[in-house]
Amino acid sequence: MAQTFETESRKLLGRLRDTMAGDDPGQTRLDKIVDLIADSIGTEVCSIYLFRDEDTLELCATEGLNSEAVHQTRMKLGEGLVGRVARRGQVFNTPDAPNTRGFRYMPETGEEVYTSFLGVPIQRLGETLGVLVVQSKDAREYSADEVYALEVVAMVLAEMAELGAFVGDGSAMGARHSQPAMLRGTVAQEGVAEGHIWLHEPRVVVTNPIADDPHRELERLTEAVEELRVGVDKMLALAAVDKEQAEVLEAYRMFANSKGWMRRMEEDISRGLSAEAAVEKEQSLARSRMGQASDSYLRERLSDLDDLSNRLLRILTGQGSDTGAEMPADPILVARNIGPAELLDYGRTLRGIILEAGSVGSHAAIVARALAIPLIVHVDRATLESLNGDHVMVDGEQGIVHLRPDDTVVTAFRDKMAMQAAAVERYASIRDKAAETLCGSVVSLHMNAGLMADLPSLEGSGAEGVGLFRTELQFLVRNQMPRRSELSALYARVLDAAGGKKVVFRTLDIGSDKVLPYMKPNDEPNPALGWRAIRVGLDKPGVLRMQLQALLRSANGRPLTVMFPFVAQYEEYTQAKAEMDKAMDRERRLGHVLPEHIEIGAMLETPSLAFAPHKFFEEVGFLSIGGNDLKQFFFAADRENERVRRRYDTLNVSFLSFIERIVERCEITGTPLSFCGEDAGRPVEALCLAAIGLRNLSMRPASIGPVKSLLRRSNLEEVRKVISDARHRGDMSVRPAIMEYLREQG
Ligand code: PEP
Ligand code: MG
Repeated sequence: MAQTFETESRKLLGRLRDTMAGDDPGQTRLDKIVDLIADSIGTEVCSIYLFRDEDTLELCATEGLNSEAVHQTRMKLGEGLVGRVARRGQVFNTPDAPNTRGFRYMPETGEEVYTSFLGVPIQRLGETLGVLVVQSKDAREYSADEVYALEVVAMVLAEMAELGAFVGDGSAMGARHSQPAMLRGTVAQEGVAEGHIWLHEPRVVVTNPIADDPHRELERLTEAVEELRVGVDKMLALAAVDKEQAEVLEAYRMFANSKGWMRRMEEDISRGLSAEAAVEKEQSLARSRMGQASDSYLRERLSDLDDLSNRLLRILTGQGSDTGAEMPADPILVARNIGPAELLDYGRTLRGIILEAGSVGSHAAIVARALAIPLIVHVDRATLESLNGDHVMVDGEQGIVHLRPDDTVVTAFRDKMAMQAAAVERYASIRDKAAETLCGSVVSLHMNAGLMADLPSLEGSGAEGVGLFRTELQFLVRNQMPRRSELSALYARVLDAAGGKKVVFRTLDIGSDKVLPYMKPNDEPNPALGWRAIRVGLDKPGVLRMQLQALLRSANGRPLTVMFPFVAQYEEYTQAKAEMDKAMDRERRLGHVLPEHIEIGAMLETPSLAFAPHKFFEEVGFLSIGGNDLKQFFFAADRENERVRRRYDTLNVSFLSFIERIVERCEITGTPLSFCGEDAGRPVEALCLAAIGLRNLSMRPASIGPVKSLLRRSNLEEVRKVISDARHRGDMSVRPAIMEYLREQG
């Protein structure tokens, strides 16, 4: 019996392929296909519903229902039984459709006479493109074999749709990758860019979903799985693999040996699918489960399986990571995620970056910022929707990606780019002017940096110096601990490039989200509150000492400025400072020249330090507010957690009052104070910080122009009054009042 089904199934697929081979228009093909399926399964009705837009399904072809209803009958996602199959992405099989909850009667189709209903989602890589339905008058439940046969057909339909088989005469569905798409995400680095897609990991395109010779296909699959297995074993045998990687590889091995996985693919092949189509069918299933799984362990395993399927597809199709495609001259990189080192490899060739995962504070984001490349993260479906070479426009102001944009979008976007270029020119014209406000206050603007690649911006941005040099980036982009001599040479180059302008080196800030690939990860329940930054430096001082020596040597007699990150109490500062004193003693004894002048400060990133003893404020060389961390601890809202990250406004009256308190304490002791979190680079935030007394801000180089421009047009005394009025009124945030004031000022 099973044999008959398999033969039937193969026959049907063979006929489907013939339909594809002809040069019929898309609609004719769809009409023929429903006819073939109804005939092969022996049901009165077979219909294909495809998505018209994101949440509307349209009847695109039918055998059995009223043909007038084609392209007329539409339903919303979730509506009726068809909508339900589409929403859940799952098969629905019932002998009594009219009495099933959710059944929707559609008179135009003449549907009431059909009792049994089987709906199968048409899915490709976990994405539902439509629904394939068979119905019959007699009340029967379709057998497992029939369901299975229909699933295989649905898979082939999805592949055909992907290849553009149903395009034509405007009525059938267009090829997915030929239509414009607009995707949304979160801005991680501002800027607008136009270019062509370059996929970090190219998609494998399956052009032959149907195969004649199941034996040959089985052989191909077995060989490919074997190759995969050997590859994974080899990777596992490599001593360099750490524990975490080994766990992932073990999971791979588990799948590669998984009987269920293999068996299902073998079955698909015996029904007429090619080896690659069988792999993709399994992958699709895993993807749709991944979307539904709430358990993070299961999700990770499914994601491993997804990755494994990709590898297998590459082996089968011979489309390795090198597909022979050539990188466009204006590449916009699309990836699920990317590491900082890989991004540095691409360097400045990229015009823009679009990531499905990633986060605003990730290392890749930091590198993208250093290279001033617009970056949008959390762009759902980016890798699914893009093909190498697609035209794309990245709006890193709004967090929008226009994929294959139509002419109106292109024109509007180019206007926007031209306006931005004009703004950049305007900022360039005030580059050498001071950020002097209308009331005569002068605010020093510095830039944040972390890579050699940042330093050229010192000149172009008009920054007075580097207010924060994040030294951990050098540690993060390598795969082994840098040596002291390397670091010292690097810091010396940074000082050379700064040409006498001040550079504030922050000692290593690792832990929390910044985990060095070559250090044992600590499994901490709350890494942001855990063993990080100066805590690591003081408990295991080896690296801190090495770094301090490297800094002292790099100065080679020049002035040097160093600050310690994440100091939460006075004693941590004194201990860290003692390390510096020891390092200086040692250098002196070794006969090295010491910096002619040295400033040692601390970052104020925890509320506790704002309440440190008066003596601390007298003693510390300077303070720099790390607003990113300070804000997350003030509001107890994780800066990396999308759900709460933006919940509290920096211009919240309580937060501004808190910062004002720090300003006052520093004024009393004459302690130099700066602010170096991301907010310093947002013009309105920077204006308010200046109004409450901050006179030194450090930000991304690209923010200096906009911040300076606003400061030069503002009167801080007036802004201060707006803030204090808001406070007296009991406003939650001063933002509405400030925005109103700025509007009035034009
Ligand atoms: C901060 O916390 O504001 C800061 C500047 O440090 P980082 O963003 O590197 O933690
Ligand atoms: Mg910080």
